[in-house]
Amino acid sequence: MSDCIFCKIAAGDVPCEKISESENFLAFLDISPTNPGHTLIIPKKHVRDFTEFPERLGEEWFSFSKKVIEAIKKGLGVTDFNLGMNNGRFAGQIVFHQHTHLIPRKEKDGLEVWSSKPATPKELAEIQKQILSYL
Ligand code: AMP
Ligand code: ZN
Repeated sequence: MSDCIFCKIAAGDVPCEKISESENFLAFLDISPTNPGHTLIIPKKHVRDFTEFPERLGEEWFSFSKKVIEAIKKGLGVTDFNLGMNNGRFAGQIVFHQHTHLIPRKEKDGLEVWSSKPATPKELAEIQKQILSYL
């Protein structure tokens, strides 16, 4: 897509701090990191989000991501990380070229995980029913 910043990065038309690349994926440092080493993994070919992500690339995505994670862990001396993907505006997606965030985590780094509150068994069963009717 011509007006997509990540397509431009994948094409080499916009610079990035590249970490690694494979046939179909590129990993580079997030320009505005949540923690040092915050890395984005993108498919080189434009897809909007996870729902458009081709299943045939799943295995390559998996092994590429694991390789990058291991390098970040060793290189930055971290053991823990968040691996996440924002899909859609309400989920916080700003760049509509699918990407996985890889965020190194350290003890007391000041970040939280997302908030939660307990649900009743009845509420859980109702939600489960709504989902299962489509499976
Ligand atoms: P999201 O909210 O999941 O769409 O995240 C988009 C991410 O892309 C943000 O963390 C931005 O800091 C990052 N980002 C945007 N433009 C660039 C860029 N040119 N190079 C590196 N990271 C970028
Ligand atoms: Zn794109």
